[in-house]
Amino acid sequence: MTEATVDGSVHVRGATENNLQSVDVDIPRDAFVAFTGVSGSGKSSLAFGTLYAEAQRRYFESVAPYARRLLQQVGAPHVTEITGLPPAVALQQRRGAPSSRSSVGTITTLSNLLRMLYSRAGTYPAGAPRLEAESFSPNTPAGACRRCDGLGVIHDVTAELMVPDPSLSIREGAIAAWPGAWQGANLRSIVNGLGIDIDTPWKALTQKDRDWLLFTDEQPSVFIRPQRDRIDHSYQGKFWSARKHIMHVLSDATSQQMRERALRFTESITCPDCHGSGLRRDALAVSVAGRTIAEVNALPLSDVVALLRPVAEQAGAAAATSSASSGEATEVAVRIAADLLARIEVLLGLGLGYLSLGRRSTTLSAGEAQRLRIATQLRSGLFGVVYVLDEPSAGLHPADAEPLLDVLDRLKASGNSLFVVEHDMDVVRRADWIVDIGPGAGQHGGRVLYSGPVAGLEDVAESATGHHLFGRAEPLAHEPRPPHGWLRLRGVTRHNLSDLSVDIPLGVLTTVTGVSGSGKSTLVSQVLAEVVRRWLDVAAEEEDDAEIDVAVSDVAGLETFSRLVRVDQRPIGRTPRSNLATYTGMFDAVRKLFAATDEAKARGWGPGRFSFNVAEGRCPTCQGEGFVEVELLFLPGTYGPCPTCHGARYNPETLEVTWRDRTVADILGMTVDEAASLFADIVTASRSLETLRDVGLGYLRLGQPATELSGGEAQRIKIATELQRARRGHTLYLLDEPTAGLHPSDVALLMRQLHRLVDAGNTVVLVEHDLDAVASADWVIDLGPGGGVNGGTVVASGPPLTVAASTRSVTGPYLARRLG
Ligand code: ADP
Ligand code: ADP
Ligand code: ZN
Ligand code: ZN
Repeated sequence: MTEATVDGSVHVRGATENNLQSVDVDIPRDAFVAFTGVSGSGKSSLAFGTLYAEAQRRYFESVAPYARRLLQQVGAPHVTEITGLPPAVALQQRRGAPSSRSSVGTITTLSNLLRMLYSRAGTYPAGAPRLEAESFSPNTPAGACRRCDGLGVIHDVTAELMVPDPSLSIREGAIAAWPGAWQGANLRSIVNGLGIDIDTPWKALTQKDRDWLLFTDEQPSVFIRPQRDRIDHSYQGKFWSARKHIMHVLSDATSQQMRERALRFTESITCPDCHGSGLRRDALAVSVAGRTIAEVNALPLSDVVALLRPVAEQAGAAAATSSASSGEATEVAVRIAADLLARIEVLLGLGLGYLSLGRRSTTLSAGEAQRLRIATQLRSGLFGVVYVLDEPSAGLHPADAEPLLDVLDRLKASGNSLFVVEHDMDVVRRADWIVDIGPGAGQHGGRVLYSGPVAGLEDVAESATGHHLFGRAEPLAHEPRPPHGWLRLRGVTRHNLSDLSVDIPLGVLTTVTGVSGSGKSTLVSQVLAEVVRRWLDVAAEEEDDAEIDVAVSDVAGLETFSRLVRVDQRPIGRTPRSNLATYTGMFDAVRKLFAATDEAKARGWGPGRFSFNVAEGRCPTCQGEGFVEVELLFLPGTYGPCPTCHGARYNPETLEVTWRDRTVADILGMTVDEAASLFADIVTASRSLETLRDVGLGYLRLGQPATELSGGEAQRIKIATELQRARRGHTLYLLDEPTAGLHPSDVALLMRQLHRLVDAGNTVVLVEHDLDAVASADWVIDLGPGGGVNGGTVVASGPPLTVAASTRSVTGPYLARRLG
């Protein structure tokens, strides 16, 4: 073993990834190590960009030598030497879009076990053969329902959509779903020939005729006689009911336009064959404990445990026989059920008992998904690996963080190392070792301020983490503002909210709190957003927000809103083409300045010449991206620098023009701080730059691609862009856990900006777990008391001190401690 060192540490020498300033550090193995520092200080660059990247590179080199050439293209992490590094597993948040077919059951691999249970130990109808485990999966050809291909939904027409105006006659076009032009005229002639009056209003036709015209599969042929000026010879016309026509278009038409038109007359409904489970009938005929696998998939995990316990704990189980119609009383049943129970109990311990196995992974929060993956790792039996984790406490109520830490302790106890990027000081306190990076962000950070046991950080004066860890930071709390009015919602019903009444104060900053699954996101990001959006009559910005069906029986207080803004951590752009300068609009000002130089005028170049999105001025190889995508089998979407312009984005001619001695590429390479002094006298540019500095982003480079910004950075850029537009009117700002990924110093900065929005006359509502943020709110609405069916009610509401004093609220005691 050349890798392992005798002293049990990982030695890093000369790490210069991103902003790291030749970092040398020794990190213990078999320990819980916290990486701390303000946002942008370089924690991820060290933990993920250097340590994990190096472990991954070594792994690929050992299993696939042909990957070496590709890896060289991307570049190994910038580090002189790393010794003592074990293999690594990264559990990162917000990475990659999970496929829409993955679910809680597939992420945790519990679905495999459950299928095995039904296959080997289920109760079958008399005489039915035993099915393979795959037959219980809608994602396999063996198991998928024939009607809906395992999707659980089908598209079908409805009479209301096909005949939107029943007062019209057929001649006037009552059947909107029929084709237009000649084909439509033809169908009307056929209907006439069949003896149905095409001049009677639709609603006056008999129900029987209407149903037949819309839905029949019959296709009678009718002899059509020539009509004056219309048809010049007679022919046999074939009838198509409206439904048959639509289904024909959907299955056969190649024109996207025709398909889209046809889809307008359909709605997606639960598949009637499988009732939405996506499974074939023979699979749905098999039961365990009296339930089908589809029913078990829909149950909260806590109920699954109650259901399977009697199976797992039965005494005197017999050996299995393949001919018996039930395997429930066998040893196989006991073994599989017991295994399932043990695994599900870990999830219950993590506070995830309200989730069901069938829950789509796309609907899970980042924190829920990460906890599922961590719990799954616990059962993987790996040891001697380092788990690199990204803020495992994100999205967790302090009460939920406890059991997660226990699971991490168990991972460590089975012989693994934990390298955890973390901001929650209560979690950091539990670490064996702390690596604190800073002191600032970007080029002001990138140094290891301290590496050692937690207590020793107290003596490091320049560490912002130390201030917060040892209670030296200034508290955020302030005198709560009184509300200007109320938004009153009555009878709110969605997910676990059932007939909920809630009053949201206007003109103040409100935090909505509660344990995981209590209903915070449902209330704020779904119900509140949808109600206000409908009132303002604006469309959803994102597809996944669209058309949710929210039941609210009564709303008062909407009149005061003139605008709705959701500020989230979604990237500000999905390609390296968008960046800070383009997003904030300051790049428009820059391009005009370049176009106004004598040199540009002499060459006849306008502002477009200085855009990397326009062909004339940009580098032809990378088309202005500065990067080229490297095809790498295992790492999709990996970028390497452009071989022609080396990242400059422009062609050499464009770079011959300078403004204040700088090329347009030089400007994109500047930090916000540097640009702020260069553009100090240019009002159009300096306003954006100053607001970016206000939110603590002075260290970012103007041209830094959107894809390289962290979620927290993206969010603050959005807030800065909001602050910079002085607007009249009353805006409702909704934020879902804005402090995720932020160091306590950054939380303070963020809260100050949000309070500025309130000072400007707006209302801010955030879903939040961070106790500093909650303590600084004007009003708190605490949901709960538990998750899922045990939650969904308002447990306490009022200014922070009121909620802190609540005896029913799980949040209360934590908040009381923070308010001191
Ligand atoms: P932290 O994890 O402490 O928030 P990061 O390690 O993500 O900080 O970032 C450190 C610095 O490196 C920041 O200035 C960040 O903007 C920059 N950075 C991060 N990723 C990249 C990248 N892929 N290319 C260039 N700069 C980057
Ligand atoms: P919180 O934000 O407090 O963690 P959520 O609002 O996300 O809670 O969830 C409240 C309840 O609604 C939970 O029981 C959760 O499982 C359920 N739920 C949330 N989203 C969905 C969804 N897309 N489909 C089905 N149930 C959901
Ligand atoms: Zn089906
Ligand atoms: Zn290029």
